[in-house]
Amino acid sequence: MTTANILLVEDEPAIQELLAFNVAQCGFRAIQAFDAEAAMAHINRALPDLILLDWMLPGASGIELARRLRADSRTRDIPIIMLTARTDERDKIQGLEAGADDYITKPFSPRELMARIRAVLRRRAPQMSDETIKVEGLELSPTTHRVSAKGENIDLGPTEFRLLHFFMTHVERVYSRAQLLDQVWGDHVFVEERTVDVHIRRLRQALEASGLDNLVQTVRGSGYRFSKE
Ligand code: CA
Repeated sequence: MTTANILLVEDEPAIQELLAFNVAQCGFRAIQAFDAEAAMAHINRALPDLILLDWMLPGASGIELARRLRADSRTRDIPIIMLTARTDERDKIQGLEAGADDYITKPFSPRELMARIRAVLRRRAPQMSDETIKVEGLELSPTTHRVSAKGENIDLGPTEFRLLHFFMTHVERVYSRAQLLDQVWGDHVFVEERTVDVHIRRLRQALEASGLDNLVQTVRGSGYRFSKE
């Protein structure tokens, strides 16, 4: 299973530790940031799969950070759960308008928070889900790491597996090499873009025997698309 990276943006050490502990207990990887600036430094290196974002932070507020992330095409789709002591209905609406996917008030029950993280990931980052996916004769199981094409098992390397999982959960959309590095490798800085081409080629080779390699399409000048057409 792919481990989701959860970026925790919270300035209070006790709450930060509580969050990190619970996130790790759930099998996610916790990345800790104590203010918006530190959070941006993490995000610039690698996109997290979800952000738990405290409203009141020293320096730029959680709301400001959320707005900034939503305004940038690279970070626009990162799921965000706002975390705050505020219970005012107006604040809640402001948080959601700034682009948060969900909203939870302190004090929170860790169990409820984890349930919400899972729900948001299921909805917003389906490649993080454990559910078996079927597209056009391809079947991929994240839990067993098995892939079959027209009923025949096929062997994929770990990167090709993640790439195919991402494609199967994001059908018909065009992704640039930089976007695929961000989404599949989690690193757009240190990995070269031609690495994407190498793994695309391997993925197509693995799908050739079943004739499903044409699902992985090159879009000239743009990148790649996984398409049934
Ligand atoms: Ca705070």
